[in-house]
Amino acid sequence: MNNYSIADQFSLLAKLIDIHGENSFKAKTYSIAAYNIEKLPVQLSTMEHAEILSTKGIGESTGKKIIELLQTGKLTALEDILLKTPQGVVELLNIKGIGPKKIHAIWKEMEIESVGELLYACQENRLKLYKGFGEKTQQSLIETIEFYQNNKGSFLFAQIEVVEPQITAHLKKLFGNDKAFVTGGFKRQLEYLDELEYVVALNNEEIKTKLLSANPPELLAEEKDSLLYKLLNGLRLRLFTGENDWQKRLFTKSCSEEFCTSLLQQYPALNFTSIENDHTELFKQATITFIPPYARETGAIIEKAKKGSLPNVILPTDIKGIIHSHSNWSDGSNTIEEMANAAQAKGLEYLVISDHSKSAYYAQGLSEEKIAAQHKYVDELNAKNPSFKIFKSIESDILNDGSLDYSNSILGTFDLVIASVHSNLKMSEEKAMSRLVTAIENPYTTILGHMTGRLLLSRKGYQINHKKIIDACAANKVVIELNAHPSRLDMDWRYLAYALEKNVLISINPDAHNLEGFDDTRYGVLVAQKALLTKEQNLSSFGLKEFEGYLEKK
Ligand SMILES: [Zn+2]
Ligand SMILES: [Zn+2]
Repeated sequence: MNNYSIADQFSLLAKLIDIHGENSFKAKTYSIAAYNIEKLPVQLSTMEHAEILSTKGIGESTGKKIIELLQTGKLTALEDILLKTPQGVVELLNIKGIGPKKIHAIWKEMEIESVGELLYACQENRLKLYKGFGEKTQQSLIETIEFYQNNKGSFLFAQIEVVEPQITAHLKKLFGNDKAFVTGGFKRQLEYLDELEYVVALNNEEIKTKLLSANPPELLAEEKDSLLYKLLNGLRLRLFTGENDWQKRLFTKSCSEEFCTSLLQQYPALNFTSIENDHTELFKQATITFIPPYARETGAIIEKAKKGSLPNVILPTDIKGIIHSHSNWSDGSNTIEEMANAAQAKGLEYLVISDHSKSAYYAQGLSEEKIAAQHKYVDELNAKNPSFKIFKSIESDILNDGSLDYSNSILGTFDLVIASVHSNLKMSEEKAMSRLVTAIENPYTTILGHMTGRLLLSRKGYQINHKKIIDACAANKVVIELNAHPSRLDMDWRYLAYALEKNVLISINPDAHNLEGFDDTRYGVLVAQKALLTKEQNLSSFGLKEFEGYLEKK
């Protein structure tokens, strides 16, 4: 059990205590402990018991519970309180915008025990009768719940990627190596999936019989040529079935509808029998350049492929530096030195430290004094290790009026500035546009961070006019971040083609808050491939000299 899952359990325990309206002092202790556990530089599972009990920020009573968790895999206090809480009330924790204290009121005062009931109560205008719930809260809750319900059962690509190899291996073993193939959104590298799709070259009855022998998952739906199952973790598994025509299916399911229709209209006589290397043979028949599954999205790409070669698409190994990372000076877990050493060990050439700015008080944003101290420290580290470079940056909050978080004289001390919105995310499109455009026009802004503030499957992000934002970035030579955190992937890759058309430079950035976070860059690369981004169009693929040159010119 790693520190993250331990912290999760304490955090849930704290929230449940608050939901029950019990000892709020205890709840606070557990929630602080969860915070501290997440930030620990060492895994608790590798520590001696005495060491755990004496760790700063944990305390004896929490320490004992950690030991219980490590020894038994269980936290009795959590299990007890879960038993006393209706499942639907626990589920309310998934709804952004209502914390445990509000859930307490919803449950105890309004006697609501599920997400569906809460939605109904909002639609019936009942919520605003209660203290702390105005008309506005009610309206935004309706939107949040609808969004949550639509996405329930969906999983991030990064989550599916972990389980896909086992599922594929299992299906191949069960049905035959040449009879089961993964396809669909997974092959297309989509940012999240509603279903994990396979083509199986057997009929429904054969599949069901074979599954019977192997502890079958729950069958949700059956059609003539597909079976839909639900796995234990809630992931839906779609098996497209049928012994005839499965090669064609394997192809069509690896494309978007637009792409598929357009291709089949133009080349109606294609013969689908060979499935080698993602249907390379098929593109030879059509005498156009091979289009990999991740790029099978638009009709426009077929036109490109007809004209000959597609660009050399960026690869995860083309990333040369980490741009956008947080250290323990703000809300990151590691020291700058640890981060620099880890980045260098990965073969990267530089690291941009961009801690939060002063208005982000919840993330320990840096005061002017701290910035000066951090810069001195970075200079010392750079002097100590000339074979790697740390750049001084800040992730400046874009304030309500669009201005950045410090005076120009402070902003001028950074090598580069990333400007992002973190507060007042609930705003009209008009407000969002004026805030973002003002920040883009600020001469100190180098990169526009996570453009919409979305969190995939949990927060929609504010509305913007993407094209106008891209135009503003083009006019002001501002780089657009493709935030590579698997639940952000913001800006959306669907607008990348337009940005590239406008010659806007993109930067695939991990927004790393710890060393593991560096690896998220890969998810940014995978979605960028969908829009055929090249390494030349991506700032974090610039080598150190090139990157320094770019900043100097800026
Ligand atoms: Zn941010
Ligand atoms: Zn950040």
